[in-house]
Amino acid sequence: MPTRNDPAYRAEFTPDNSSAAGQGRRSERYASRVFNEQRMLQYLTRDAYDSVKGAIFSGSKIDRKVADQISEAMKAWAIEMGATHYTHWFQPLTGATAEKHDAFFDLLPDGRAIEKFGGGQLVQQEPDASSFPSGGIRNTFEARGYTAWDPTSPAFIYGSTLCIPTIFVSYTGEALDNKAPLLRALHAVDEAATAVARYFDKNVNKVNATLGWEQEYFLIDRELARTRPDLMLAGRTLVGQAAAKGQQLDDHYFGVIPDRAFQFMRDLEGECLLLGIPVKTRHNEVAPNQYELAPVFEEANLAVDHNLLLMDVMEKVASRHGLKVLFHEKPFAGINGSGKHNNWSLSTDTGTNLLSPGSTPMKNLQFLTFFVNTIKAVDRYEELLRASIASASNDHRLGANEAPPAIISIFIGKQLTEVLDELEGVSKGKLSPEEKTELKLNVVGKIPEILLDNTDRNRTSPFAFTGNKFEMRGVGARANCAKPMTVLNTIVAYQLREFKAEVDKLIDGKKLKKDEAIFNVLREYIKSSKRIRFDGDGYSEQWEQEAARRKLSHNRSTPSAIGVLTTPETLELFKATGVLTEKEIKARKEVELETYILQTQIEGRVLSELVYNQIIPATVAYQNSLLENILGLKEIYGAAHKKVCEAQLGILEQLAEQLQEAKKKTDAMTEARKRANGLKDLNKKAAAYCESVLPYFDEIRSHCDRLERLVSDAHWPLAKYRDLLFIR
Ligand code: ADP
Ligand code: MG
Repeated sequence: MPTRNDPAYRAEFTPDNSSAAGQGRRSERYASRVFNEQRMLQYLTRDAYDSVKGAIFSGSKIDRKVADQISEAMKAWAIEMGATHYTHWFQPLTGATAEKHDAFFDLLPDGRAIEKFGGGQLVQQEPDASSFPSGGIRNTFEARGYTAWDPTSPAFIYGSTLCIPTIFVSYTGEALDNKAPLLRALHAVDEAATAVARYFDKNVNKVNATLGWEQEYFLIDRELARTRPDLMLAGRTLVGQAAAKGQQLDDHYFGVIPDRAFQFMRDLEGECLLLGIPVKTRHNEVAPNQYELAPVFEEANLAVDHNLLLMDVMEKVASRHGLKVLFHEKPFAGINGSGKHNNWSLSTDTGTNLLSPGSTPMKNLQFLTFFVNTIKAVDRYEELLRASIASASNDHRLGANEAPPAIISIFIGKQLTEVLDELEGVSKGKLSPEEKTELKLNVVGKIPEILLDNTDRNRTSPFAFTGNKFEMRGVGARANCAKPMTVLNTIVAYQLREFKAEVDKLIDGKKLKKDEAIFNVLREYIKSSKRIRFDGDGYSEQWEQEAARRKLSHNRSTPSAIGVLTTPETLELFKATGVLTEKEIKARKEVELETYILQTQIEGRVLSELVYNQIIPATVAYQNSLLENILGLKEIYGAAHKKVCEAQLGILEQLAEQLQEAKKKTDAMTEARKRANGLKDLNKKAAAYCESVLPYFDEIRSHCDRLERLVSDAHWPLAKYRDLLFIR
């Protein structure tokens, strides 16, 4: 088998020398493989450039002739860069990305070979899409799906392939991916937020949602991982005795990065920079072998694409370092799992962060407007936001006292709580001049420009205001951020629209001044959304009880969490904002249920295989070696052997007991799976997997882990936690 130092072992990746990619001035190499603004200026005619810019700014259409020009320019650049193929890069509902490569190479009728890439190929493709999940949208008679160019996310060269970010829709126009709804949500929030921002600044013409994700992950030795079918097939360990040393010493967080991990990170960052992913921060996380990587934040659609690309790059770079990256939300029992905080804000084309307090009362009123509207939106749609981060794997992490609970609440800190309390006390209708002055100078005017130190104090909150952005912390490490970002931007868009209508009504109907009207509506929102604000310990049991009193949802599992996707309120929200039709949302729910069932089913199968094909045989082999030993001792000691063999006999007894229990429960789990598989209704089937199959996993595991404690290391076939968790 090749070792990790063997050059043959290193995956073919970018044509760049990997060690060179990690050195020198990073800013100089940044985005050299991206067809970004700089390249467009260099390769496109002015008309074509303006056309792409228009599409990015206002979603205007790019006509076919211009598309031809753009594709020619992209081709010229890509070939110069050594690319031989192109692909539409898209995000089917599998959660990962998909690509099908075509060569630029083509033959003319006379047999001459050329490099071809026309506007048609840039703008639209028709991949054979019948194998992607569609939730029943695509019937077999119309199994076609289209990918269509997303000019707001620039094309890039990955390896030797020009990748064109695209949406993926059905023949009849329904979204079959995670990008199309995100783009619609971003459009909705742009429209709604721009209209509200113009109360404060008439120069605002566009609002972008911004996203800065923080990716957590584990790094383990690839060869060791190969001994574990659970890690290879399910991404997490289904059995495994905790290592004697875990995270109890708190010595890993922000600790010295182990050399092997550091080499990986350096190489990874080099590749990321070439691809235009603006990686910035790296550090050890809480659990052994757990790390985090965070970039500079970007426009949300681009940030989502970059996160998906990053996860792919990480796997490739890890493999050439003989490592494996785990994105699973809970790969190991007993130590922390991995999440992906989503830092979110809104930013205007005039350069203002709408969630950043300013230096004047008017700027602060603008800040409060967006701040309170976000709180109100989250309060109304907390259950939907929870649903957006639901997955079989994230179920193991949320609420496990290491990650936020499955109850959504907002932490805003003491200072802002005081401000909201004061605003709540403002009188209704017209304000007296004294009241106005008081409000502007002493309440709104007093919000300090920099709140960071005062706000980032509660790490248990799932949705925390951290000075100039909200941080959504329940997102899973493996998730496509497009899902929570679609929901968050949609609910804020819907809320801002309603806010604008209410304020305008007070201005026109009640003849209130603009700021009076804004104060009036905000005051009502502050009152009606109070239950979502919680500054205490989100991990505590008291909070669970308090949240129940406040009637906040608490859905612990995916099947229960995604029920809300098809309520009349949700359907209305997505319809009104134009983000998802009823057909699309129902299809999505179906895909979520199917994915949940399949993932749990795979885990169940892997667990049975582990028990029957690895753990039972290993235990039996060890039993045999003990028996042989006992028989040998009996030969020497005769009747007195029992005393000499006391320890061996004791172990044999324990082995037999655990072995029987492990087998019995594995068989019972298999029976439960069969019963679940017999159910036709997807909701019932998912619930059966969740309630009748899943609970066996931990029971089976406990017997297997006891066996691992008893059986000799020499007989145990699976790499142990202590080896997996401490890379050398
Ligand atoms: P941590 O949570 O690890 O303490 P921070 O709270 O400082 O770290 O989060 C840093 C993340 O927040 C980075 O990914 C950064 O890009 C992102 N971020 C900062 N400002 C914004 C913003 N206005 N919009 C979106 N993300 C932002
Ligand atoms: Mg954070």
